[in-house]
Amino acid sequence: MQAPTLKTKAIVTRAVPYNESDIIITLVGVEFGKLTATVRGCLKPKAKLRFAAEPLNFGDYVLSGRNGRYVVTECSQITSFFGVTADLDKYYASFMILDALEKFSSEPQPALFVSALKKLGELEEPETDTDRLVMDFLSDILKISGSGLDFAHCGICGCEAESEMYLNEGSGVVCKHCKGFFDSPIDSLTLSCLRGEKASHGVMAKANIMLADFVYKTSGIRIAPRYFTEQL
Ligand SMILES: [Zn+2]
Repeated sequence: MQAPTLKTKAIVTRAVPYNESDIIITLVGVEFGKLTATVRGCLKPKAKLRFAAEPLNFGDYVLSGRNGRYVVTECSQITSFFGVTADLDKYYASFMILDALEKFSSEPQPALFVSALKKLGELEEPETDTDRLVMDFLSDILKISGSGLDFAHCGICGCEAESEMYLNEGSGVVCKHCKGFFDSPIDSLTLSCLRGEKASHGVMAKANIMLADFVYKTSGIRIAPRYFTEQL
């Protein structure tokens, strides 16, 4: 009996060499979430599907197999997001995005998938502010997972946020009257850059660590920890 085939638009989030010339890839697709598949013989010279086993490759994949054991039989490339390799900061940021997309995609995550692809496309533009893009992506993750943060209002009483605000696990950004005993203050520089003001790389990096920590506290998913600490 022939193995069934599965056609899907997907992006490679990870690639690990296997055996002599195979690569096992992790694919995230809009319909199925995350799965792994083997690209056979792609480390041989002149291998036709080498590109299909590269992280960041986005394409129409045809897979054959069942029960979690798939082989890539065809791939038609939509984009390789090659432009992100022109700048090391953007290249690292693109792998943080892949890591987040993969870790959240045990179930299909159409909204996150769209956000990740849009951000990868923006990273190819030389004028894109990488720190701001990372901040927007983390905000998207929080919004999509139901923990979106509003930096202009207290999440409990709804008052207009002042300069002294705190981060609360259950209610997001809260004012000094509503803060709980364990809520940590958000300093005014961090707050203003989270509200969209221009800030130095150091301030943006700290704000992004705070957002990534909040993602972890609310979802249990730790995104690319080394990426964020190496930004400091
Ligand atoms: Zn309040």
